[in-house]
Amino acid sequence: MRLLLKSNRALVVLAFLALAASVVTASPPQRVARDPGTRTTVITTREAYEKLCRDNPANELVPVPSLIPDIRAEVRYASRDNFLGRALYPDASLFLTRIAAEKLARVQADLRQHGLGLRLYDSYRPYSISETMWKESGKKFAAYLAPPWLGSDHNRGIAVDADLVRLPTGTALPFPTDYDDFTPKAWHGSPCDHPQAASNRERLRTAMRSHGFVEYRREWWHYHLAEAEGFPLLDISHSELARRERRVSAQKSRAACSPNHGVQKE
Ligand SMILES: [Zn+2]
Repeated sequence: MRLLLKSNRALVVLAFLALAASVVTASPPQRVARDPGTRTTVITTREAYEKLCRDNPANELVPVPSLIPDIRAEVRYASRDNFLGRALYPDASLFLTRIAAEKLARVQADLRQHGLGLRLYDSYRPYSISETMWKESGKKFAAYLAPPWLGSDHNRGIAVDADLVRLPTGTALPFPTDYDDFTPKAWHGSPCDHPQAASNRERLRTAMRSHGFVEYRREWWHYHLAEAEGFPLLDISHSELARRERRVSAQKSRAACSPNHGVQKE
């Protein structure tokens, strides 16, 4: 009996230690993409994302208009006007990592000097939206969409889909094809019917390249930062990012209204 009690006590202690160890060594709040043969990690939780931002502020997703107030936008994935025929985003908000947004602001500053500006079709795209696109696109677009587990730079917040407009009117300039035209006509180097389209395509490429973006050769509209290393795949929804923005601006307002605001510590 005593032996039994002892062993029971030992079991309780062991169970407690196991529980404590599981809490301490709980896997980080990330998940491995559900794809055979790959080990793509995707940041999915607010806690993991906040840690990422603390560790490297360049990774923080910021609203693009906060750095580029005169940027134009036509976010097709927030409407039914896209290849899936339904809205995939809750609204037309645009987010990029801080470093990408800062570089894009320099592109816009250069273009502005010539009376031109960027119009964005897409920027940061949550990983789960890429999964949805992949699942729902069917065979028709299979040759043009990359499997999500390969990791899109849109999921890293370092890619944009863009064309050019005149400022301040917002009049669109001609380009070789419509956005998301999944045909060889959209490739860089393809001949264009419109005489100005090829030069606009080249003008956009020159402007983007001069601030660290590189093109995808099959889509004249797609640009991403040349260096993707250190930018993980993210699955933080647009709604969550919008809530975070509201929290951050409320904190800033409270700090500004604090009676100690502006009082320097000695
Ligand atoms: Zn793109």
